[in-house]
Amino acid sequence: MPHKNPQKKKEYLKKYYQKNKEHWKLKAKKFIQNNPTYFQEYNKKHRNKAKEIYEARYRFKIKIKVIQKLGGQCKICGIKDIRVLEVNHINGGGSKETREKTNRFYIGIANGNRKIDDLELRCANHNIIYEYEQGRRGKYWKNIDINAIIKDVEINETAKDKFE
Ligand SMILES: [Zn+2]
Repeated sequence: MPHKNPQKKKEYLKKYYQKNKEHWKLKAKKFIQNNPTYFQEYNKKHRNKAKEIYEARYRFKIKIKVIQKLGGQCKICGIKDIRVLEVNHINGGGSKETREKTNRFYIGIANGNRKIDDLELRCANHNIIYEYEQGRRGKYWKNIDINAIIKDVEINETAKDKFE
């Protein structure tokens, strides 16, 4: 029964349902008997999803405000893609502050309740590079001769080529 006309399709389905009304009612009743928590679970799942979407929208709104307050782009490369922009603590202590009170931190910036002169906006890559430069990552890099190691690896690669 291919109905191109949606109105006709609706009428057809209505007639089809009416014709077998008792049959469908019985089928639905049996389904509920066999799956007594179906509607509770369905509601719970969809309520949670709606709540999560609501919260995500709120966090997104706060993030936009924070990004705008901090200049809207990576300080180094100028990228404006909000998916990669991060707030950098110039003097460190960022992970402590965001871990302890993430929401309060961002909301504070958005509302103007937290000062921003120790903060700057960087993309994820330039944030990581900054952490290396500050010695917060690659703790022992300063104790090793990186260029010597790079050279060493190149020599080994060349030596390996000779055996292959
Ligand atoms: Zn950047």
